[in-house]
Amino acid sequence: MHQKSAAKPTTQSPPTILLTIDVEDWFQVENLRPWFPPDHWHEHPLRVETNTHCLLDLFDSFKKPIRATFFILGWIAQRCPQLVQAIHNRGHEVASHGNSHLLCNQMAPADLLEDLCTSKQRLEALTGQPVYGYRAPNFSIDDNVLQMIHQCGYRYDASYNSFAMNHRYGRISNNHKQTGMALQLGEQFHELPISNLQLAGKTIPWGGGGYFRLLPPPLFNAGVRHILQKTGVYHFYIHPWELDPDQPKVQTKPTLNTWRHYLNLHQTQTRLHHLITRFKHCRFQTCTQYIETITTTTTTTNNNQQQPTHNQQPTTHNTVGWIKRSGSTNTP
Ligand SMILES: [Zn+2]
Repeated sequence: MHQKSAAKPTTQSPPTILLTIDVEDWFQVENLRPWFPPDHWHEHPLRVETNTHCLLDLFDSFKKPIRATFFILGWIAQRCPQLVQAIHNRGHEVASHGNSHLLCNQMAPADLLEDLCTSKQRLEALTGQPVYGYRAPNFSIDDNVLQMIHQCGYRYDASYNSFAMNHRYGRISNNHKQTGMALQLGEQFHELPISNLQLAGKTIPWGGGGYFRLLPPPLFNAGVRHILQKTGVYHFYIHPWELDPDQPKVQTKPTLNTWRHYLNLHQTQTRLHHLITRFKHCRFQTCTQYIETITTTTTTTNNNQQQPTHNQQPTTHNTVGWIKRSGSTNTP
């Protein structure tokens, strides 16, 4: 994959960073599934509320407004309704991470539809506002899943990860018009891919999660700067449990997945603060704000017949650049 950027910024507007948070608890991650099957989740202490408030407080510690998008698991929303309302009341976007955290491309269509709709309705009932966004557990989308997400009334999906070496990440077709980083999948329906780094023809995972905790901050930030220079926008993801070094530990011989889960948890909060500080000149928008920005820019530009800006690059070859996969390094 080559993240081409006819995309070089040509406007005065600052680059954009989309901070996204998958709100789930420490025992719900796929890498620990053998030890924590869903029918035993209710037995474990919830730590997600405290950890999410750490993120909310971190964002509020900056003078400039830091707006983020929280993809909240319906299972969590049912047990922590006040957390959903706190996220909404503090100015962030409430979006859906589904209801059950099962991989979308392994669910029966009827079950997936119910999962998508239940989580959306549950969140909307708590905030009184429409929920526009969806992120699939472990980025497990495909074209059929995207159709169902659209069918349930979502306006965007934020689950496409171009890194090909993780077998759980889904693939989608590559024939979509691209504006900024957004792929237009249908009428009022976009895909916002996770950002990755393109170096020497390779796709290197650089969107957050375990890779954010693995790589030294100066190196990680250099990669983010490179992405911003190329595309004008960076899409980052993290989980509340990644800020929690005191979470219960699985007592087992370390595997790659458990090692990755617990890696550098004690540093995450500092690293995230450092990341935002390093890029404080950027605009920190929610996903819906970003889509509104690019669609407004496109409409205005079309009306005025102006030249494209970095927020308006409806060229097909860029789309191919985002979607086409290539081999890369091993998953850390
Ligand atoms: Zn998740």
